[in-house]
Amino acid sequence: MYDLHVHIIGHDKRIRDYSPNVDTYVLQAEMLGLKALGFVDHYPYRLKNVKKIKEKVEYYKKNADIPVWYGAEIYLPSNTRIPKYFDYSLGHVRAGYNLEEAFKMANQKNIDAIAHPCAYGARCSYARLEQYKNLGICLEISEKGLIYLPQWLYEKAVALGIPLPLGSDAHSPDEMGFPEVVERGLKWTPLEEIPFVEESGWL
Ligand SMILES: [Zn+2]
Ligand SMILES: [Zn+2]
Repeated sequence: MYDLHVHIIGHDKRIRDYSPNVDTYVLQAEMLGLKALGFVDHYPYRLKNVKKIKEKVEYYKKNADIPVWYGAEIYLPSNTRIPKYFDYSLGHVRAGYNLEEAFKMANQKNIDAIAHPCAYGARCSYARLEQYKNLGICLEISEKGLIYLPQWLYEKAVALGIPLPLGSDAHSPDEMGFPEVVERGLKWTPLEEIPFVEESGWL
């Protein structure tokens, strides 16, 4: 197991410095026996606000026992230019857009994975996914958004070979782990077979 969708910046606006979260997440990931940990926050944000966070993440990228990556979660559609220093990107599809639009927008923005498919108002009628299967764009298996993932979509993705990476969408370290995914018996894509992990040679 691994987790490629962990938010450092939580929902509590009174907390100005979320960088101590990074330490707790890395400890928690090691305790849960995760094979890799990917941080994301909702980008765009002011870079000066995440200076300490970036320093911490850089430290763990070099020193943690497991691979640590720094990505971004981007709302789609988006006019944001995604900086090169992010290791990967997740697309959070805004309410009202359907799955085919999600794949097209993700492709345009070079987004690696569609986060929590069909959740939070994104539309999810039966989609012709065949035409998107070779783009290398993943569909996330989201612990937090799992109730929104239709079984037909999961099964179709498996049949078409669309990669299914794991992400908890935790906003605090105690929200990590995948009890619902395990309970539902879903099979996620092994870390080394995820296209953006494979291509970047991180392992
Ligand atoms: Zn999201
Ligand atoms: Zn998220």
